Amino acid sequence: SIVITGATGQLGRLIIADLLAAGVPAGEITAVARSAEKAADLGALGVRTRIADYDLPETFADVFQAGDRALLISGSEAGRRIPQHTVVVDAAKAAGVAQLAYTSVFGGPKADFLLAREHQATEQLILDSGLPYTFLRNNWYSEVYAGDLADLAGIIERGVLLTNAPGDSRVASATRGDFAAAAAVVLTTDGHLNKAYELGGDVAWSFEEFADEVTRQSGEKVVHAAVPAAERKAILVGVGVPEGFAEILVDVDEAIGRGALAGTPGDLSRLIGRPTTPIADSIAAALPK
Ligand code: NDP
Repeated sequence: SIVITGATGQLGRLIIADLLAAGVPAGEITAVARSAEKAADLGALGVRTRIADYDLPETFADVFQAGDRALLISGSEAGRRIPQHTVVVDAAKAAGVAQLAYTSVFGGPKADFLLAREHQATEQLILDSGLPYTFLRNNWYSEVYAGDLADLAGIIERGVLLTNAPGDSRVASATRGDFAAAAAVVLTTDGHLNKAYELGGDVAWSFEEFADEVTRQSGEKVVHAAVPAAERKAILVGVGVPEGFAEILVDVDEAIGRGALAGTPGDLSRLIGRPTTPIADSIAAALPK
């Protein structure tokens, strides 16, 4: 079976849709979810469902079978991910899966920001397991800036994209759909064992270019503004972002300022056989109507 954890999340759902579209029979796909209710629509498609929680090791006991191709989609709770991912890697190892793919961080061991640490530790866990691996080192989702993880309407209303990195800092983002397509490819084709892919957009766009594109599409003047890290953190905390997460976001921008997310090695478009989705398309899709 092709086993996908985090299957009821946004990336997981896109990957399952891509597997089905590629002709994988629904009965050969296993969706791992922590909520039976959330997985019900996948079950209705004929996809096998398994209910398991990264926090409950015993629930992973019969999720994997020998020979499965598995994808661990990283958990969504920063700070809890090392013990959670350990549960999944241990279960995959005990079963003897044929491939364990993992959604890691762009740059892998070289990524020099706080958010990367749990991904680096997870890559190490997987290497130590001895299982054949595929690391999908994903750059930022474009949705972080234009989409469900962003507030494009607020940016347009205020006329400002606020960061704590210089305006010429670049991010080679791609859409969740692009990253999902790559995951489906490595799980259904050969030649991806013991490989690490640095996945991101074909184009690294700058914060200034992003603001200019929003201006062009919305007809409202939007500029990029950079403030010092401490000030940005205070602003984030002021609007209700928990202190620890504000710290992580500010730290990410500092890394972006150093160019940590600007690389364009081309692995993503090569894997999916098409160009990645331009940021202008993500802005168009997210523009308030
Ligand atoms: P989602 O939040 O939509 O999905 C996360 C998935 O993980 C959900 O299916 C969720 O289950 C599952 N999950 C979380 N905690 C547990 C747990 N304890 N046990 C079992 N399953 C669990 O995120 P996306 O699909 O958009 O992204 C996938 C991952 O990529 C994120 O979890 C995060 O690690 C990372 N990410 C990367 C970003 C980037 O820019 N590169 C941006 C944001 C996240 P449930 O459906 O029940 O909630």
